[in-house]
Amino acid sequence: MTAPEEKNMDELVALCKRRGFVYPASEIYGGLRGFWDYGPLGTALKNNIRDWWWKCMVECPPIGPDGEPVSIVGLDSAIIQNPKTWQHSGHVGGFNDPMVDCTESKKRYRADHVMVYKPIVPAPPMFAFLEGDPKPAEKNAKKQKIDLANYEIVSLLELAHEQYERIIGPDATKPGTLTEPRAFNLMLDTYPGPIRGEENKAYLRPETAQGIFLNFKNVLDTMRVKVPFGIAQIGKSFRNEVTPRNFIFRSREFEQMEMEFFCPPDESQKWYEFWRDERYKWWLTLGVDEKNLILRDHGDDELAHYSSACVDVEYKYPFTAPGYGELEGVAHRGCYDLTAHSKDKQNNKDSNTRLDYFDQELQVRLQNEGVDKDEIKARSRYVPHVIEPASGLTRAVLVLLCEAFTPTPDRQGSKYILSFKPKFAPVKAGIFPLVNKDGMPEVAMKLYNQLRTKHVVEYDAKAAIGKRYARMDEIGTPFCFTIDGDTLTDQTVTVRDRDTLAQERVHLDKVEAFLDAKLAE
Ligand code: ATP
Repeated sequence: MTAPEEKNMDELVALCKRRGFVYPASEIYGGLRGFWDYGPLGTALKNNIRDWWWKCMVECPPIGPDGEPVSIVGLDSAIIQNPKTWQHSGHVGGFNDPMVDCTESKKRYRADHVMVYKPIVPAPPMFAFLEGDPKPAEKNAKKQKIDLANYEIVSLLELAHEQYERIIGPDATKPGTLTEPRAFNLMLDTYPGPIRGEENKAYLRPETAQGIFLNFKNVLDTMRVKVPFGIAQIGKSFRNEVTPRNFIFRSREFEQMEMEFFCPPDESQKWYEFWRDERYKWWLTLGVDEKNLILRDHGDDELAHYSSACVDVEYKYPFTAPGYGELEGVAHRGCYDLTAHSKDKQNNKDSNTRLDYFDQELQVRLQNEGVDKDEIKARSRYVPHVIEPASGLTRAVLVLLCEAFTPTPDRQGSKYILSFKPKFAPVKAGIFPLVNKDGMPEVAMKLYNQLRTKHVVEYDAKAAIGKRYARMDEIGTPFCFTIDGDTLTDQTVTVRDRDTLAQERVHLDKVEAFLDAKLAE
């Protein structure tokens, strides 16, 4: 396995473009920063991950911590909601990232992403760079003949503003050009209807979660669910990111897979630990190596004020290695969101609905335990607490691409392979006649017609066989079935394995079962 440090992102991005995974959006007009289009194979890869998440979360969710099946239902809420949603959720006032400008390069950076080489024994200057890309700082240091061995790396946010005059910005040549960090609202706005004015300003959602909270009561009233249960949603989100970068890692339009799990307040810690462990295990089912995946607990200084715990699932991307970057966050959100959107006359809230829950089972249990009537009343109606596993679907696409990307300099034909786990590969098998004559195409076409009713397979009779294999390797197709001279006499075909290059012969009648078994793994 190639280590993340040895994978070159420029080569991966070029492969993604060349083989139809990801293209820059509106490329023929020069592109648009932070936006990407998914080509036919990228769309297939994304859909495979999306469908697996939906299957594991909504259709066949795991068994819960008490041995009972977990109940989760799906939702598809609108991207644009009443703007009051975002006022009450805290996004309009608070969804801000600290940001710094550089007066020399005219570039703008998220301050929490700027790292600084700071001398251990104080002496000017300091060299800044964007997390994961220290090259500009190293170049600046080299120009000044400074050895960075005596420097430590700290976040820009750890430095006092007075120290900024000694910092050379990531794209600058002289010190003191970074401004003080300022807040920047990340929501993209839009104006539904014919009038374009402040009074009908609305927002493209920055997360799918709030649509779930707004529908908590609808789902409760219309579905046969009781707390604890979850509502899951997959869809587009938009954030006006200050510095979109690292390919599709941080873009301005992206997709999320989020689930809000509503539970009784006194069970919330148990469910938090359950979802933290389940979500980590889920990423391993995608074929991600455990070595490249960690759980990182948020420190108290990172937690949102309403959150009592949060843990990130982090992946060792080639651009963060040897460090890790976020892939999913599992947050204990307490009763913050449901309370924020709940009817509340005293505080003059806009919502006309109470978002609390009457727990009939708890009421009966407390009655049987002989608990006092007033206490039963107080305890059986509550605002559920929420555990939220929130991940990026497009970021998951990047993780699988990074994980699968393997340079193969010694292999004839393909310089790279994408070694996806077969279940997630966009194309599951290539079917080739060795030569385009002698009865081989007919047999190959028959096999293709049989398999294509069930799986995404490709028939290819053109070019030399080595070239056909090379293309399949580069798009990550795990198996190729080749019909050759022997097939016509003994009815067997060659199966070639993408990763090992091993070839074995399988009877034509067994090809379908062979593929089914591999894809079920
Ligand atoms: P970050 O700190 O990286 O900005 P976040 O903590 O704000 O991320 P969340 O609000 O928790 O992210 O969103 C949940 C998930 O959505 C993230 O773990 C990530 O996978 C994905 N995500 C968030 N922002 C982006 C983005 N700009 N581009 C692609 N995916 C994103």
